[in-house]
Amino acid sequence: LTDKLQDVFKDLRSKGRLTEADVKVALKEVKMALLEADVNFKVVKQFVKSVEERAIGQDVMNGLNPGQMVIKIVNEEMTSLMGSETQELQFQPGKATTVIMMCGLQGAGKTTTTAKLAGKFKLKGKKPLLVACDIYRPAAIEQLQINGEKQQVEVFSMGTSHSPVDIAKAAMEHAEKNGNNVVILDTAGRLHIDEGMMEELQKIKQAVTVHQTLLVVDAMTGQDAVNVAKEFDEKVGIDGVILSKMDGDTRGGAALSIKAVTGKPILYVGMGEKLSDLEQFYPDRMASRILGMGDVLTLIEKASANLDIDAGKEKEMAARMKKGKFDFEDYLESMKQMRNMGGLSGILSMMPGMGSKMGDIESMIDEKQLARMEAIVLSMTPQERRNPKLLNPSRKHRIARGAGVDISVVNRFIKQFEQSQKMMKQFPGMLGGKGARKGKF
Ligand code: GDP
Ligand code: MG
Repeated sequence: LTDKLQDVFKDLRSKGRLTEADVKVALKEVKMALLEADVNFKVVKQFVKSVEERAIGQDVMNGLNPGQMVIKIVNEEMTSLMGSETQELQFQPGKATTVIMMCGLQGAGKTTTTAKLAGKFKLKGKKPLLVACDIYRPAAIEQLQINGEKQQVEVFSMGTSHSPVDIAKAAMEHAEKNGNNVVILDTAGRLHIDEGMMEELQKIKQAVTVHQTLLVVDAMTGQDAVNVAKEFDEKVGIDGVILSKMDGDTRGGAALSIKAVTGKPILYVGMGEKLSDLEQFYPDRMASRILGMGDVLTLIEKASANLDIDAGKEKEMAARMKKGKFDFEDYLESMKQMRNMGGLSGILSMMPGMGSKMGDIESMIDEKQLARMEAIVLSMTPQERRNPKLLNPSRKHRIARGAGVDISVVNRFIKQFEQSQKMMKQFPGMLGGKGARKGKF
């Protein structure tokens, strides 16, 4: 091998796997981004450590640099941590009534979300009953009634002189008589977590069978979300989380913190004050938002998409090579792919069978040369590209004029091409499909 080629290979190899240094540098940036997004610092530390272990030694995808590759892994890990797939709220089977208890701090968005959920359930053909268990906050009952009316769902209330437990029990009887198959208990919150609040929620759970305890957390809570989620999960036990106020400018780091600490699924996100502003939770979108690296992620997506298309074409081309049918059209295609993949590594791996006789395409290594070769091929007619045998002297002269090169350059190039073709026929076994891209050079 010549020095030039060796340089290319060295480049290829050094791009091959993520080193510890690559990963450390990129993760520093990720750490900053997560802290900026208000992800709890302990969660950040843990998360970064787990990604570091996973990332070191991984192959760098074509079209990405090591830093971008780390971001890709980070994004995947975050997505999978937050649940990979969108989770649906589970209803009781058949005609059984599903009882949902809302909980969370004051102002988190429980009452609003209760009404939002009712609208969603109605669309699913359910008959919800909203229950006013917040007897402390002035106007809390009225707020639920107004929202219930807007959604055209029934609201059950007994004023402020009964205990939330009694109200919940009475509501269950009412639901049974009325044929409500979903009951949502809107409970009281406090400004801070306190024993009284937790006890009240526990008592409700003891008095009626609650199937889903949903914690509503204000997305703007940031770092504190961890304590809130942990406390509620330990003391009351939660089944799912709703993140409210995601329409604000918060990056939503609370989502990652809550999921990491409780392991409970995030079911919905609140996207505004209107009662229709409740959306399904999409882990991948959330991960992008928290990471806040839209540009990089778009680039990564593009590279992945390219790779998918290429994988198909590459297979097709490898099959043609095996049959010794690699023609100038294929050549053009591989040039295009090479450009897509951002460099020589593409074309080198596109011609896996040439490994041992790389010297033959040595002359193609120079980028300027490559451009000249491409000009030659482009000056051919499609018929000539598909059937190089057509290339007689007069055609070659025409092509040389078209490409603006000397006829000797055209002759040499075509001769090299024919040699490559012969080689492909000679060593069909060496033309692999899988693994070719990574290069066995
Ligand atoms: P609760 O104390 O937990 O019952 O909270 P509320 O349901 O009364 O909501 C408190 C405030 O937050 C109200 O002004 C709501 O309109 C507002 N709110 C609730 N959810 C959202 C949301 O997703 N986005 C926005 N922008 N405001 C919300
Ligand atoms: Mg309320």
